[in-house]
Amino acid sequence: MYDYLIVGSGLYGSIFAREATNRGYKVLVLDKRNHIGGNVFTEQIEGIHCHKYGAHIFHTNNSKVWNYLQQFASFNRFTNSPIANYKGELYSLPFNMYTFNQMWGTITPEQALQKIEEQRKEITGTPKNLEEQAISLVGRDIYEKLIKGYTEKQWGRECRELPSFIIKRLPVRLTFDNNYFDALYQGIPIGGYTKMIENILDGIEVKLEEDYLLRKDYWNSQAKKIIYTGPIDAFYDYRYGALEYRSVTFETEILNCPNYQGNAAVNYTDRETPWTRIIEHKWFEFGKDNLGNELSKTIISKEYSSEWKLGDEPYYPVNDEKNSLLYQKYKTLADEEGTIIFGGRLGEYKYYDMDATVASVLNKCDEEL
Ligand code: UDP
Repeated sequence: MYDYLIVGSGLYGSIFAREATNRGYKVLVLDKRNHIGGNVFTEQIEGIHCHKYGAHIFHTNNSKVWNYLQQFASFNRFTNSPIANYKGELYSLPFNMYTFNQMWGTITPEQALQKIEEQRKEITGTPKNLEEQAISLVGRDIYEKLIKGYTEKQWGRECRELPSFIIKRLPVRLTFDNNYFDALYQGIPIGGYTKMIENILDGIEVKLEEDYLLRKDYWNSQAKKIIYTGPIDAFYDYRYGALEYRSVTFETEILNCPNYQGNAAVNYTDRETPWTRIIEHKWFEFGKDNLGNELSKTIISKEYSSEWKLGDEPYYPVNDEKNSLLYQKYKTLADEEGTIIFGGRLGEYKYYDMDATVASVLNKCDEEL
């Protein structure tokens, strides 16, 4: 009999397993995939750690979270500075003095602010949706060229139908600063995320290619408590209907050239280009392999966003009103479970960043263990 059966070996599940083990509990981790790490999984190809489920750049302001992870990985000094490509015009992200200069030719913060102020006047009152929020933050020009197409591709919905909080993730600055994240700590685990998860799970029993939901009753009989990090609606067999998710797929190519786009991430912000962004994995590690050698090849992944359907991997919860209400119904069921804890992006249907996931599982460990 296990004390805890942990479903899913992503950040949430792995850290719970580590903490429970450290505190003397007997645990087993299941994952339905053939590898650990959930969506932070990286695979080494041609000496490059490829982010198989999309770019993961660790960033946080939470020193407890940062210090906690230092036990399992050293982080490099990668700083996320994506480029936006709008029909061949290049812009710096996030929105800052470089972007304003490229968009309007403004030189000083005062000039840029004046442009923004002029354009944001069209929104009066509190912004009711992502479109209004975006225009009130940066004005219509930037909204049309750098936000609208990208967001509608990524979410498959009109900006007017999306909640405003999504765009508040992006900073707006009147300084020349292309660092995407307002974070005290930032970087990529040296040696890849998979190595970090391996270190977290060191010495812990893990069973791969085991789909808990297919043998739920059996597995429930094997442990006193379950930590479930899969989709909450799937756990309840979609009893009230399926929650909506966005899924992403990747087209990955190995190229015989050392440098394809000169940056880890380029966002294609027009509506017509079918992919949302291209990542060039080697630049997460400055184009070098584990030994510090320059690499002659490169690997790129084009990212396509799609509406999730049964059988796809869910990536992003769609936290609009309809889905939030549906989630509340599942949450009510979950709250009545005595022995099952739901956690992580899918278990809590929350657009968690990695650091928020770590903070959340550490809190849960303090509460539970
Ligand atoms: N976004 C945008 N243009 C960009 C990048 C982001 O309009 O070039 C918007 C878009 O609505 C997106 C949101 O900002 O959903 C959050 O982007 P972020 O890069 O944080 O998303 P993630 O990396 O989690 O996919």
